[in-house]
Amino acid sequence: MERKPDLVVRSTNADETAVIAEAIAHVLVAGDVLVLGGDLGAGKTTFTKALGLALGIDDAITSPTFTLAQQYDGGRLTLHHLDVYRLDALDEVIDLALPELFESGGVVVIEWGDTIAPALPAGFALIRFEFGEGDDDRSLSLTAVGTAWAARVGGLGTTLADQIIDRQDA
Ligand code: ADP
Ligand code: MG
Repeated sequence: MERKPDLVVRSTNADETAVIAEAIAHVLVAGDVLVLGGDLGAGKTTFTKALGLALGIDDAITSPTFTLAQQYDGGRLTLHHLDVYRLDALDEVIDLALPELFESGGVVVIEWGDTIAPALPAGFALIRFEFGEGDDDRSLSLTAVGTAWAARVGGLGTTLADQIIDRQDA
């Protein structure tokens, strides 16, 4: 998972992160998995809230740090929002029944998902959130794992052209 990201975009405030989340929400299909990496406060939950709104989910999305997994229906796709920060052992991940969620036909978003690599499916989008110089500056690096996401990176790059810092051209 350490290869160079396919697309790196800049966000200078939470609203810009929402714009990035909306662009990604528009290309989501049933069964997609988004793995969100990055330190506390980097913007993973902020991103997921905007993603849920863009999917047409009316319920307020809250951080699942304590509930671990939360399901939201009523949008274009069901959203499963997970946060595996508190899990210290991979056995605890088993309790989350991830394979069932991956097969459920919804979208699965996993905060800190990069820490449970062995439990991830064959294909997913890895989005790493990093802090920048100013308090509100972030960079979001997207790495497509598997062909289904690789096929969508070009389109996302076009949609987010104004925010691009770096991109790998296939
Ligand atoms: P995480 O889930 O990664 O721990 P949160 O989304 O809960 O992070 O918190 C991010 C905090 O940083 C929020 O208070 C948000 O308003 C703020 N913030 C400031 N700038 C940005 C940005 N560019 N993108 C996302 N969040 C930002
Ligand atoms: Mg969070």
